[in-house]
Amino acid sequence: MERKEWYRHEAEECLAELSTTVGGLSDEEAERRRRRYGPNKLAEEERISRLRIVLHQFTSPLIFILLIAAVVTGFLREYIDMGVILAVIVVNAIIGYFQEYKAEESVRALKRLVVPRARVMRENRERETSSEDLVPGDIVFLASGDKVPADLRLLSTIELRIDEAMLTGESVPAEKSTAALAEDRLSPGDQRNMAFMGTAVVNGRAQGLVVETGESTVLGRIAEKVREVEVAKTPLQERLELFSRRIGMAVLLFSVAVFAAGVALGSSAKDMFLTAVATAVSAIPEGLPVAVTIIMAIGVSRMARRNAIVRRLPAVETLGSTTVIGSDKTGTLTKNEMTVSVLYDGSHTFELTGSGYEPKGEILHGRMAVAPEDWQRLALVLRIGLLCNESRLYVEEEQYLVDGDPTEGALIVAAMKGGLDPQEERRRYQRLAIIPFESTRGYMASLHGHDNRRFVFVKGGPERVMEMCEHIDAAGEPIEPDKILRVARSYAAEGLRVLAMAYLEVGEETTGLVPADLEGRCRFAGLQGMIDPPRPEVIDAIEGCKKAGIRTVMITGDHAVTAAAIANKLGIGGEEPVALTGRELEGMDEEALYEATGRVSVYARVSPQHKLRIAQQLMRRGEIVAVTGDGVNDAPALKAAHIGVAMGRSGTDVAKEASDMVLTDDNFASIFAAVEEGRVVFENIRKVTLFLVSCGLGELFAILATILMGLPIPYLPAQILWLNLVTNGLQDVALAFEPGEKDVLRRPPRRRREGIISRLMLERTLLMGVVLALGTVLVFADELQKGASLERARTMALTTMVFFQFYQALNCRSETQSIFRMNPLGNPFLFFSMIAAFFAQLAVLYVPAFQYIFRTTPLSVGEWLEIGLTTSTIVLAVEVDKWLRRRRAKE
Ligand code: ADP
Ligand code: MG
Repeated sequence: MERKEWYRHEAEECLAELSTTVGGLSDEEAERRRRRYGPNKLAEEERISRLRIVLHQFTSPLIFILLIAAVVTGFLREYIDMGVILAVIVVNAIIGYFQEYKAEESVRALKRLVVPRARVMRENRERETSSEDLVPGDIVFLASGDKVPADLRLLSTIELRIDEAMLTGESVPAEKSTAALAEDRLSPGDQRNMAFMGTAVVNGRAQGLVVETGESTVLGRIAEKVREVEVAKTPLQERLELFSRRIGMAVLLFSVAVFAAGVALGSSAKDMFLTAVATAVSAIPEGLPVAVTIIMAIGVSRMARRNAIVRRLPAVETLGSTTVIGSDKTGTLTKNEMTVSVLYDGSHTFELTGSGYEPKGEILHGRMAVAPEDWQRLALVLRIGLLCNESRLYVEEEQYLVDGDPTEGALIVAAMKGGLDPQEERRRYQRLAIIPFESTRGYMASLHGHDNRRFVFVKGGPERVMEMCEHIDAAGEPIEPDKILRVARSYAAEGLRVLAMAYLEVGEETTGLVPADLEGRCRFAGLQGMIDPPRPEVIDAIEGCKKAGIRTVMITGDHAVTAAAIANKLGIGGEEPVALTGRELEGMDEEALYEATGRVSVYARVSPQHKLRIAQQLMRRGEIVAVTGDGVNDAPALKAAHIGVAMGRSGTDVAKEASDMVLTDDNFASIFAAVEEGRVVFENIRKVTLFLVSCGLGELFAILATILMGLPIPYLPAQILWLNLVTNGLQDVALAFEPGEKDVLRRPPRRRREGIISRLMLERTLLMGVVLALGTVLVFADELQKGASLERARTMALTTMVFFQFYQALNCRSETQSIFRMNPLGNPFLFFSMIAAFFAQLAVLYVPAFQYIFRTTPLSVGEWLEIGLTTSTIVLAVEVDKWLRRRRAKE
């Protein structure tokens, strides 16, 4: 079907063509169209490749060894062994497949939680919906930072600029307009009155008519159909996979050498083959990659439960090493529930009572309630705040809520406390045009028609607004800007956010607003100061960050004095925090800023570009930097930082897309929670590694020792497979569920490049390996000495190792803590996996079919006792090691 050339038609024609009006569709009609056109989304863009995961199961050295072993045992007519090995290969692949698939699926499902929203007109009312619900004929609103939700014919625009690079390759944002274009066959880049799905609004506001949705959009037509992609592995995962692969290859070579040496020395090829396979299987940490994948997935879902949604997996491991968090103030450190508490009209100060958005409260002057009718200037200040405003106050379930910017919500509430009725005022002062607030501009202006007169209302940061003002006030009296700024500063010193209001009367022919026309011509009307209480939980989180060796830095667009006052309340930047302002920062070169970032923790009146520079210098200092952001212009800083954190509620689509992590509650405390989980992830990877490598080493040592002693090997290949993949295999997965230890947040951040294997782990691995091997070999040799059959001796050796590994799972739960001080049910998975493994081992010893497959014999009570005593030595050894290290750490 040929695409309609919407851009050639006037807006009215397009509206008529789609049988709609600027009041939007009815809910009923929207529902009908939705059934007809389907949801507004592209075909599932990314799908996990199941085939890739299946193949992945067969790429490990272990599987190669097992396949070879299966073939050879087949030739040797050892059909039971061949059966066991083949069963292991299949079961291993099935389990690995499901675990990996589930892990990838859960990581992906989280991403879907961040669904794009759209503002749409329905039933004559503006509301928010999922962008999937849009249908042709809908009227939608765009603001800076939005992703365009469908293909739109623009109806009205204000300074609209859209980044269309993804469609056109053009890096300069396109200026948009609304008039119909005469040419035909225009490429999307030339269709100036259209906005296309997936492109990003970088500036301005607009209203548009949805003309195409889903697959029929320009994007839908060019997008590749169903792409299969792999969830990228994190650097750590890659390193670990490489690590276990290397060990695998080394072990393989070693086994071949053992085989060759044995045969050369006269052992039978068959025996030596079994020995070589046993050696190889014992020492390869085959469980590691899967365990790591699971640990990552658990970490990601724990973070999600604590309101941090990870969008890029590598963030999980970087988070744990974060050293600096650069956070926005408003909404992240504070509640963003603004309430105007003081007002200044140029000569008088007023106080406002009441809290929150409920428009209940009084305006006091000298402790007496006043009425704005009697105070003209007061009424003007309130009116400007009310009308130069893009937000709405509404009631839901008896609660007053703000749709839009909380700062603006507070101004509406203040005006209502002064007796102004929003609807009435909006009717009396028709709005004709606006210059929207953008943080780079620092103010908002609106043009209003009132009784044949035209007024421009302005509100914004006091310094910026004073720059735009003449030095006379509303009554024509001269004013002193310095005095006004002093008043503003005194409010800021109490932690208030201060906005200045100004106005300008213009000729009645005026229909539009041009920023340059306002400069130097406005008249100052007054100030409003609003409180924005700190989030109580943030104070604790910042304290927690300090203990964990993480510095918190405030980066805000608000006034320096306000920023410093709030920083002080929150405990940022020491006793007397001093703010560095954007203007000062402007005058610094990279070196000066490099130096400043070492000591300054509060940055005020900064623009997003400054935020980027601050993040870059912090990173140059070797810090691991997390930075928050919400606006379009924050995207570069979010991308540049090690971890870009976007706000889930107040954040724009563009900021979310540039981020590594999204906070569903916009709360600083959630970043801290994510850091904690990031550290737990790393610790758990270490725990599992220690467990797997030390147990493998113990088995390897045991085999080598018996070879050197001229004894037969202590276990058959089938037994080692049992040990490593069943009893041990249950526990390494269970260890992935370890909760964090108490002191994870009391340690300094790990260096990012620090490897998995620490010195402590290396030493402890050796210790464990030696004890495990010693115990097993002693039991084994002792049995043979006493004249037991080889089968009996092997059964003893196997069971000894199984129980050693039970203890090992406990030992590995903490590097430093005694296992007697840990709650055995702290990790229920581990607890139950041990019970399961215990019964599995009983089955192997006592169920005839298993006895036959694994060539085991039942054990007597005395033998059980012997095993119990022998294996408890590993607890003793590790406890002593932990104790010695704890003592040394205290000194
Ligand atoms: P932050 O979110 O870090 O507090 P912003 O960039 O949102 O910083 O705001 C910076 C300053 O711009 C505020 O201190 C205030 O003076 C002014 N301001 C904020 N919101 C608005 C708005 N909606 N209209 C006019 N001025 C605003
Ligand atoms: Mg803001």
